[in-house]
Amino acid sequence: MFEFTAPFRETSGSPIRELFKYLGEPGMISLAGGYPSSDLFDVERLQQSAAAAWREPARCLQYAPTDGLPELKHEVMRLMQQRGVDVAADQLMLTTGSQQGLDLLLRVLINPGDGVLVEQPAYPATLQALRKQQARIVTVPVDADGLDVERLTAMLESGECGKPKLLYTVPTFANPTGATLSRERRVALIELAVKYGFLIVEDDPYGDLRFTGEHVPAVRALAGQIDGGVERVVYFGSLSKIVAPGLRVGWTVAHPDIVRRCVIAKQTADLCSAPYTQAIAADYLAQGFLAVHLPRIIAAYRRKCDLLCDELDAQLAGRLQFQRPHGGMFVWVRVEGVDSSELLTHAIAQKVLFVPGRAFYADQADASSLRLSFAGPGIEEIGEAASRLARACKLATL
Ligand code: PMP
Repeated sequence: MFEFTAPFRETSGSPIRELFKYLGEPGMISLAGGYPSSDLFDVERLQQSAAAAWREPARCLQYAPTDGLPELKHEVMRLMQQRGVDVAADQLMLTTGSQQGLDLLLRVLINPGDGVLVEQPAYPATLQALRKQQARIVTVPVDADGLDVERLTAMLESGECGKPKLLYTVPTFANPTGATLSRERRVALIELAVKYGFLIVEDDPYGDLRFTGEHVPAVRALAGQIDGGVERVVYFGSLSKIVAPGLRVGWTVAHPDIVRRCVIAKQTADLCSAPYTQAIAADYLAQGFLAVHLPRIIAAYRRKCDLLCDELDAQLAGRLQFQRPHGGMFVWVRVEGVDSSELLTHAIAQKVLFVPGRAFYADQADASSLRLSFAGPGIEEIGEAASRLARACKLATL
């Protein structure tokens, strides 16, 4: 009846959001969404910051500048400095979650048919955004150290991937694999971006959530040490995983020419992100609350991660393979000889949810893979979740 534009003719949405319908079932334990734990929200301090923001009601109730409230930009610049990145005001814009930053970036840079390199497996919403922009997606494999930069080098040298415009990666505690790109590979990647003239899109919502191992600087931080590197990196940050996704506070750091175009794109998307939550976030950061909150959530996620991995080892030894992550929210699992979409049917019957690996592949999906998130469920639910998964595995292999 209606004539939709080509990208919106088909109606399949986010494969992860499709699982939401099961969340409300009584007794369901979800290892599916990349949700932070609701129990860990810093409610009292956020209430304090909300009250502080409300002392200037007009700032909360009036439109804000499209690139963000100046006081929050100031705080994000300080946060970026702690991450080893000096950011000027015209290199930064605030967005409605970092997801909007990606959407705007693709709108200003990607024409239909433009080549975009994506790590594989990858964050599904990025794949979805790329498809809607009609990009030509070229996948690059990942291993335990993140993106396989050697393979990427060969692809670029041989010209098999054409001339890509950008490369998307979550280099630290990746979604979905949990892997972190080694420092050497980061440097090599920046050198490739300079040599072949593509942009690295560094999506970094999880970088602060390190449980163990040595800190690896952001790609954007390392780019400062390489001639021509800085302008080759677009960095996305977010408060979603470290404070609360409901604030919808994300940011983009990029060359001023890119930021300017993204600001224009945002003018037609939503004029500005909600000033009220920006003001709350600005006060929260200015009071130093994040520095108090982070160690608390890191300790909690670390316990959950350890417990889930221990339980998987104990209850599913030999049946599945995974690598213990050093941070973030995800464990990437392979169940040899089992199709994880079929396994999900059994898992739903056993009242546990995960995301089948297919969702994370643009091509040649590994059907035996799946993603587990340990962040959302209560610590007391994790052992039970692993038992249910073990039962589902048994049923799937009968
Ligand atoms: N990038 C990655 C890798 C994510 O996992 C997520 C959230 N699931 C986002 C971006 C979007 O986060 P935000 O809430 O900041 O839009």
